Amino acid sequence: MNPTILKGACHCGTVTFEVDTPLEPAVRCNCSLCRRRGAVMSPPFPADKLRILSGENELAMYEFNTRVAKHFFCRRCGIYTFHQTRANPDQWRVNLGCIEGVDAYSLDAPVADGASSSVVTGA
Ligand SMILES: [Zn+2]
Repeated sequence: MNPTILKGACHCGTVTFEVDTPLEPAVRCNCSLCRRRGAVMSPPFPADKLRILSGENELAMYEFNTRVAKHFFCRRCGIYTFHQTRANPDQWRVNLGCIEGVDAYSLDAPVADGASSSVVTGA
């Protein structure tokens, strides 16, 4: 097995996944959704780097505003696990707080200005 693959899980352990991504540059975001969930997120990676190992049918999906980004969370424990990005729907990010053995708060994770780009007038 590739040792660079990170293992992740939601809080209750229903949803587990593997992802092949560097940890940095990590990011937080001040958009209306991210400022509520407060997650430190991985850099974007292509969809095929993410593999859901369990709990796929317990994942719920949330969309808002432009409805391009798809935000996934565990319907049992409510934890955000990963999302498909709006800037490029081929790119995903994971919640680094879900990754085994990673202290997400020790990473340098500047706050991206998602608030300025998250509202599309007339959308
Ligand atoms: Zn869960």
